[in-house]
Amino acid sequence: MIRVFETFSSLQGESSFAGQRCFFIRLSGCRLRCAWCDTLPAQPHDCGKEYSVEALVDMALASGIPVVEVTGGEPLEQPESVNLLQKLLDAGLQVLLETNGAEDASRVPEGVVRIFDYKLPSSRMESLMLPANFRSLRKLDEVKFVIGSREDFDRAREVETLYAIPEQVNKIFYSPVWGAVTFAELAQWIMESKAPGRMQLQMHKLIWGADATGV
Ligand code: SF4
Repeated sequence: MIRVFETFSSLQGESSFAGQRCFFIRLSGCRLRCAWCDTLPAQPHDCGKEYSVEALVDMALASGIPVVEVTGGEPLEQPESVNLLQKLLDAGLQVLLETNGAEDASRVPEGVVRIFDYKLPSSRMESLMLPANFRSLRKLDEVKFVIGSREDFDRAREVETLYAIPEQVNKIFYSPVWGAVTFAELAQWIMESKAPGRMQLQMHKLIWGADATGV
C-alpha cells in the first residue's frame, strides 16, 4: 500500500513537459523542511490515505491522460513507490518522478523521467543532497534548481560544474522562489552568466495563483 495525499488532473506546470496535460499522484510525507516548501500539507507522513498500487494505476489510466507524474512530499521515502513507477510504465504511460535529491534514486526503473529538485542554500536542506544522485544522472533526467537568492543562483552554477551536470543531461531548469526573486532578476542572471539551463515559471501558479492546491 502507498499513502497518497491527493491525485488530480491538470496542466504540468514545470519541467520539459510544462503545458501538457498530466495526471498527478502526490504521495504523503517528506522528512525535509525546506524554508519555502510550497506543499506543506503533504509533509506529514500520516496525511492522506492508503491506496494499492493497482488502484493508483487504474486511476491514472481512467484519467485518459498519457502522462503521469508521481510527486510529493517525497515519493522515494515510501519503498513501494518504486513498484508503482514500474507498474505505471508497464501500463504504457509516460512516467515522471519529481524527487528532492535526498533519497537514493538508483532504484527508480529505467524509462522513468527523474526530475531532481536540487536544494540550494536558501532551502536550508542542501546538506541532505545525495551526491551519488547527481554523479550518475541518466539521459532522460532533468535537474531543477529553485532559486531563492543570488547566492542560490551562484551555488547552482557551482553544482553544475561539481557534478558535470550539463555533460550528463541537457535539461536544466532555474525556477524562482515565488515572491523571493523576480522573473526579471533571474532572467538577467541567466543571461549574464551564460548559464546552460533554461528559466521556468511554474505555469500552474501563473494560471491559478500561487496558493492554489490540487492544480
Ligand atoms: S522536499 Fe519538497 S515537500 Fe519536502 S520540504 Fe522540501 S519542498 Fe517541501
